[in-house]
Amino acid sequence: MKNSFLRDVAAALVDLYAPRGCIVCGRRLGMREKHLCIYCMADFPLTFYWLRTRNPMADEFNVRTSEHEKRYAFAAALFFYRSEAGYKYIPQALKYEYDRGAGRFFAARLGRLLASSEAFGDVDAVIPVPLHWTRKWGRGYNQAFVVASAVAAELSAPLRQDVLVRCRRTVSQTRLGTEDKIKNVSSAFRVRKRAVKKLADMCPRHVLLVDDVFTTGATLGACHRALRAVLPPAVRISVATLAVVDAS
Ligand SMILES: [Zn+2]
Repeated sequence: MKNSFLRDVAAALVDLYAPRGCIVCGRRLGMREKHLCIYCMADFPLTFYWLRTRNPMADEFNVRTSEHEKRYAFAAALFFYRSEAGYKYIPQALKYEYDRGAGRFFAARLGRLLASSEAFGDVDAVIPVPLHWTRKWGRGYNQAFVVASAVAAELSAPLRQDVLVRCRRTVSQTRLGTEDKIKNVSSAFRVRKRAVKKLADMCPRHVLLVDDVFTTGATLGACHRALRAVLPPAVRISVATLAVVDAS
């Protein structure tokens, strides 16, 4: 009781001297609000794709994986990314403004929703999309790793960042068309044999690939191809991201 009172006093003082703003609309946050104000929280554009195994994101991803995957792969994102909506600042803050706290906060929410779903509840290994070492060196961290580590913690599944490696530095995907994006990343990933053997020794049944944003699925499709080539066909490979670009 005493501790929580002191914590509240400390939080109130911090808010007084260094007010925190809502990541989406900039409105000043109340003491009990974290990253989002109550209005932006109420309007949060959740996808609910973790409850719908057949969804537009999974359809798009399955187009990319149909040559090397016999089953329909599961795919889910926490929320819709629309260029005109302020929710785009969540992945942007993680990627460009070093705001790992917000990234972890929303990724944990994604992880809890995946853990409670039928499609993703049995995930037993989480693999982040790797960043080329030169980009990681420039930013100091891999944003997909930040998302994947919070998701893995909520799923109580091991995080395996040693399995995939980005062997080629690709040009930024932002301004490329879909076909150019596929070409850009098609041979950018490979697996580390020793790490794959360690993963196979765990006898996983369901592996989850994690990235920050799903745009065309080209990057995740290339990672899927690299993993599919070395994992037994019985192992299901699904994907999850913080946001999915809503093209509608
Ligand atoms: Zn707000």
